[in-house]
Amino acid sequence: MPRAAECSGSDLCDEIAGSRDTTFLRIYEGEPPSRLICATEHFRLLADLSPLTLGHLLLLPVAHYFSFAQLVTDFSAELDTILGKLEPMYRQTFGDFTLLEHGSSPGMEASACISHAHWHILPIAGRRIDALIVADGLDTTALTGMDQLAEFSGVPYFMCWHEAGLRVYRPRRPLRSQYLRSKVGALVGIADPLWDYALVVRKELFRETVALTSAWGADADRKPTRARPEAWRD
Ligand SMILES: [Zn+2]
Ligand SMILES: [Zn+2]
Repeated sequence: MPRAAECSGSDLCDEIAGSRDTTFLRIYEGEPPSRLICATEHFRLLADLSPLTLGHLLLLPVAHYFSFAQLVTDFSAELDTILGKLEPMYRQTFGDFTLLEHGSSPGMEASACISHAHWHILPIAGRRIDALIVADGLDTTALTGMDQLAEFSGVPYFMCWHEAGLRVYRPRRPLRSQYLRSKVGALVGIADPLWDYALVVRKELFRETVALTSAWGADADRKPTRARPEAWRD
């Protein structure tokens, strides 16, 4: 199992490890006190710090991986349980349910791309994201199951999963940074480049997302350092 000992420069890595010096705390100053929505043994569900829409969430492993391709084989049962419980609640609260990932790899430049694996969860029409990516000429692979994502371990890729299918995209040339955010931004009517997470932080969307999901982990402790791992277990 290829894994890095640490995730250099990744704020997510530090935050998930319990650091008190995080971008989340600096931006939101204790309101809300936590962005943890749910916890399972090996995963955390968080609100995205700089949401593009209401309901913009992140699902990430507690341990460090560069991408979900590196972990889907080992955690397929836990991921199935999480998605099985999350999708109905999410649809009821926010609408569409689409997963996006920009999977990175150990060989990528540290400054731009190395990151702690995470899926973006967004209430957008996945088919429309697929269409925008295809229009950009990326190589497309349609997968029949999440386990096939493992074939992309160690290479950069983009993933889009929704009710009509799971696709992996590989760029033929370098793409702008925050490529997927730029596509989602185009879809939801955010002017270029205001989808850049550092340019505009939509704090009210974030706080409303946290409020709307506050009951989802009702049997879990919302504090990251005391999360109860069994919360989502059957
Ligand atoms: Zn990490
Ligand atoms: Zn991301």
